[in-house]
Amino acid sequence: MKKFKTESKRLLNLMINSIYTNREIFLRELISNASDALDKLYIASLTNRNVKVSRDELGIGLAFDAEARTITVSDNGIGMSRDSLDKNLGTIAHSGSLEFKVEQEEADKGSKAAEPAEDTEKADESAQDTPENSAEPGGEAEAATEAKATDERKGEAIDLIGQFGVGFYSGFMVASEVRVISRAYEEEQAWMWKSNGIDGYDLKEASRPEHGTDVILTLKPDSDEEDFSLFLSEAELSYLVKKYSNYVRYPIRMEVTRRRELPKPADAGEDYTPEYESYQETETLNSMTPIWKRRKSEVSEEEYAEFYKSDFHDHAAPVATFTINAEGALNYDALLFIPSHAPFDLYSKDFEKGLALYSSNVMIMEKCPDLLPDHFNFVRGVVDSADLDLNISRETLQKNNQLRAMARRIEKKIISELSTLMAKDRETYEGVFECFGRSMKYGIYTSYGALKDTLAPLLLYYSAKEEKMVSLQEYLDAAPSEQEAVYYAAGEDEALLARMPMVKSVLARGFDVLLCVQDVDDFCLGVMGSYEEKPFKNVAGADLGLESEEEKQETEKKSQEYQELFKAMQELLDTKVSKVRLSTRLADMPAGISAEGPVSLEMERVLAAMPDGGGIKSERVLELNAEHPAFAKLVEAREGGDDGRLALLTNILYNQALLVEGLPVTDPVDFAQAIGQLLI
Ligand code: ADP
Repeated sequence: MKKFKTESKRLLNLMINSIYTNREIFLRELISNASDALDKLYIASLTNRNVKVSRDELGIGLAFDAEARTITVSDNGIGMSRDSLDKNLGTIAHSGSLEFKVEQEEADKGSKAAEPAEDTEKADESAQDTPENSAEPGGEAEAATEAKATDERKGEAIDLIGQFGVGFYSGFMVASEVRVISRAYEEEQAWMWKSNGIDGYDLKEASRPEHGTDVILTLKPDSDEEDFSLFLSEAELSYLVKKYSNYVRYPIRMEVTRRRELPKPADAGEDYTPEYESYQETETLNSMTPIWKRRKSEVSEEEYAEFYKSDFHDHAAPVATFTINAEGALNYDALLFIPSHAPFDLYSKDFEKGLALYSSNVMIMEKCPDLLPDHFNFVRGVVDSADLDLNISRETLQKNNQLRAMARRIEKKIISELSTLMAKDRETYEGVFECFGRSMKYGIYTSYGALKDTLAPLLLYYSAKEEKMVSLQEYLDAAPSEQEAVYYAAGEDEALLARMPMVKSVLARGFDVLLCVQDVDDFCLGVMGSYEEKPFKNVAGADLGLESEEEKQETEKKSQEYQELFKAMQELLDTKVSKVRLSTRLADMPAGISAEGPVSLEMERVLAAMPDGGGIKSERVLELNAEHPAFAKLVEAREGGDDGRLALLTNILYNQALLVEGLPVTDPVDFAQAIGQLLI
C-alpha cells in the first residue's frame, strides 16, 4: 500500500470532517468529475484528429446495489493512466483539471502569438470542426464560424467544473472504501485505485472494456446519527441529480425499475384484478440543456413557464420572465421570474429570498440571498457563471464584489422590467404590485428613504378621486397647479377612508387624496417626505395649511371666544389630548381627531399592534366643528354651568371621533353608558 503523505492525511481528515457542511454533495462532485473527464475527451477530439469520439457517445452512468451498499458513478471520458491515478488521486489537492485548464490557456495564448505554421494548422482544424461544434448541446444550431469554433473550444476548457483537487475526496464523507477503475483513452490496460481514505491507497492492474472511469463507493454502515442507506434508492439518487446536476451537459443515466400492467387475458371474468410485472429501463435523470443559456428568442413562453414551475415549485406560471447575458470582466447568465402570486410566507421572518446560483451548470447554492435586494425579495431565478471565485467546498463564494456586481445589475434589470410592465401592461403590473408592493415600500422605509428615487416611481396608491390605482407621477400630473402637497389618508380600509370627513374636505377643494391601507404606508411616506418637491401630507395631520387667510382669521377669532370652553374640555379629557380647538374641515361631523408632531394616528395604530410598540403615542388634538348643532350644546352646557352635561358631551364627542378614525375606544363601557344617559 502507498501511504498518503502526512500533510495529505491531515488535509483529508479536514476535508472529510469540515470542508463540506452537506454530505449529499458527494454525488455532485463525482458527477462533476465525470463531466470534466468527458469534456476533456471531447476537447481532445476537436484538437486532435486521432481522437475519434462523437459527442453522442459520451455519457455518465449511475448505479447502486443496496445489498453490497455500493454506488457507482461511471463515465466513458478521457480516463486515467496508472500515473494519473497516482498523481491525481494519490495527492490531495492536486487538480488534473486545473492543470488541463492551464495547458489549454497556454496553448490558446500560443495559438494567438506563435509561428504562422502552427497557426495555419490550428485554423484548419477549427474550420474542420465546425459541424461538430454546431451539434453542441449548448443548443446553438447556427453554422459556426472559424473564430467561433476556437472560442467554443476555449469556452469548454475554461468551463471545466473541478479545479481544487479535493472534490473526489468528498466521497469519503459517506464511503468507508472508494475504488476507482480507470482506463485512459488509447491505452489497453486499466488500473484500479482503492482506498479507505485513512492511511493510503493501493494501485493494481484491472480490466475495463473501454476508456473511462468507474468510481465505486462502499457506503459506511448506518449509525444512530447517520443514515447512509438513504442514498441507496432510485428516488434519492434521482432527486440529488436533479437538485445539483440537472444541467450537466452530458446525460446521466440510471437503470430504474418500472411496473407495468399485464394485458388482460381474453377469458378474464367480471372480477378480474389487473396483474403487474416489473421491468428495467434506462432513464436519463438530468435535463441537460440549461434553459438560461439559450437565447430568449429561441425559447417559448411555455418552456420558460414549465421550467419555472418545476424548478421553483409553483403551480402558476410567472407573470414576467427576463434574462441577462453579461459579458465583460465577469461573464454570467441570469434568468429571472416574477411570480404571479406571493408565497404564503413572503412576509414572515422564515421567508428566504435568493436566486439559485450555478457555476458551469452545477448548482452551488439553492438560494443565494446576496444576489437580491430585500425590496425585490419576491423575484425567483437562476444565475450561472463560470467565472466565480468559489471557495474550496464550492458551497460559497469567495469574493463578494463579484456577487455585488451581479446583484447591482440584477437590481437594475428588475427595475427596468417592472417599469416597462407598468407602462405596457398596467393590469398585470397592478397585480404584481398588489402582491409585492409592500416589499418595495418596506425597502424605502428601512433604507430611511435612501431608495426613494429608485423605488418611488414603481409605487401605486388608490386614488379617492379617480377610484383606481395611480402612480405618484400620475397623481401630480392630474393635480391643479395651485396644489402644494400630495395628500393621503392612512387606515385599514379604502371604503372607510373615503368617507372620512378630512378626506372629503380635501376632495371638496379639488385635490385628490391617496387612500393608503397598508401598515407600512404612513411610515414609508413619512421617510420619503416629498415627491417631486411636493410634501406628503396626511389629511389627518393637525395642520394641512389648506385654509385661506380669511378662514384662518375667522377661526382664530372664534377660538379666542371659546378658550374657556376648550380649556374645560381639555381638563376633562386629561392627558388623552394635548389640545382642543376649532376646525373648518370636519364637513358634517361634530368633532374629529388629528395628530400633531412626528407620530401620526395611523402610526400609533400600527405600532400598537406590534409586540413592543405599544408605548408610542401620537399627540392627539380634538377638533370641533363650530357649525354643527352639537357645538351649540357644548356652549350651552358650559355657559349654564352644567358640568355633568359638559363632561358627558365631551366624552361622547371624543370617543366617536376615535371611532371614525379607526382608533380603539379606551373604555367602551363608559362610552356606552354615556350614550345611554344621553338617551334618557
Ligand atoms: P478537481 O475535480 O477539483 O480537480 P478532484 O479531487 O475532484 O479535484 O479530482 C482530482 C483529479 O482527478 C481531477 O482534476 C482529474 O484530473 C482526476 N479525476 C477525478 N475524477 C476523474 C474521472 N472520473 N475521470 C478522469 N479523471 C478524473
